[in-house]
Amino acid sequence: MIEKLLTYQEIDKELKSLENTLNSSEEKKQYAIAYKFLSTVGDVVAKLDAKAEDLLNKFNAVIEKQKELSERLAYINSEIEGSETEEDASYMLKKADEILNSIKSLEDTLKKITVSMEEVKAEYAKVGTNTKRAQVQYKEYGEKYNNLKKELEPKVKEVKAKLDALKKGIDPVLMAKYDEKRKDKNFPILTPLAGKKCASCGMELSMKAIADLENGNVIECENCRLLVYKKYR
Ligand SMILES: [Zn+2]
Repeated sequence: MIEKLLTYQEIDKELKSLENTLNSSEEKKQYAIAYKFLSTVGDVVAKLDAKAEDLLNKFNAVIEKQKELSERLAYINSEIEGSETEEDASYMLKKADEILNSIKSLEDTLKKITVSMEEVKAEYAKVGTNTKRAQVQYKEYGEKYNNLKKELEPKVKEVKAKLDALKKGIDPVLMAKYDEKRKDKNFPILTPLAGKKCASCGMELSMKAIADLENGNVIECENCRLLVYKKYR
């Protein structure tokens, strides 16, 4: 019974090779890179939006604070003119000086915020350029990938037809086990028993596993997860 599945695997190797040709192609690689960029760029833009909004809020808050201080300064200046004693006048001057310093310090803060805003603007521009580039790449390599796929299609169909024909003669339970493993990257899927060991990874199998193999069953290697079978002469 295992012989048929081994024949199946032999033909399946051709299908696997065609799949590998497609999956490891430059067409697929470039297409995938562009796809990944385009599917994550929304998050990048959302983060930039949040950053830009935060900066704008800070900017407006500083402007507001400056306005408030300017008004206080104007008030104090008018008080200085009307002050009756020299002590009052000097106290007011000191106050005015303090406020002036605060206004200057806020100007520095504004400059820093403006620099950050320019940086965000540059990032937006960069993301925009990269997005356009990715869109071009996505389209170009999407077409190239599809062309390659079409090119391989007749061969794929041919091999699949052979496999379908072979499938009919194989025990469905065994076939299902194989098909399940086929979803993984490992190939081949079946490996023979070598003495008491799995021929693929060399792990010694349990007594129970060996007994199962003696009974003509196929077992899964606990170490490499391949399907182990026993050869019959
Ligand atoms: Zn193994």
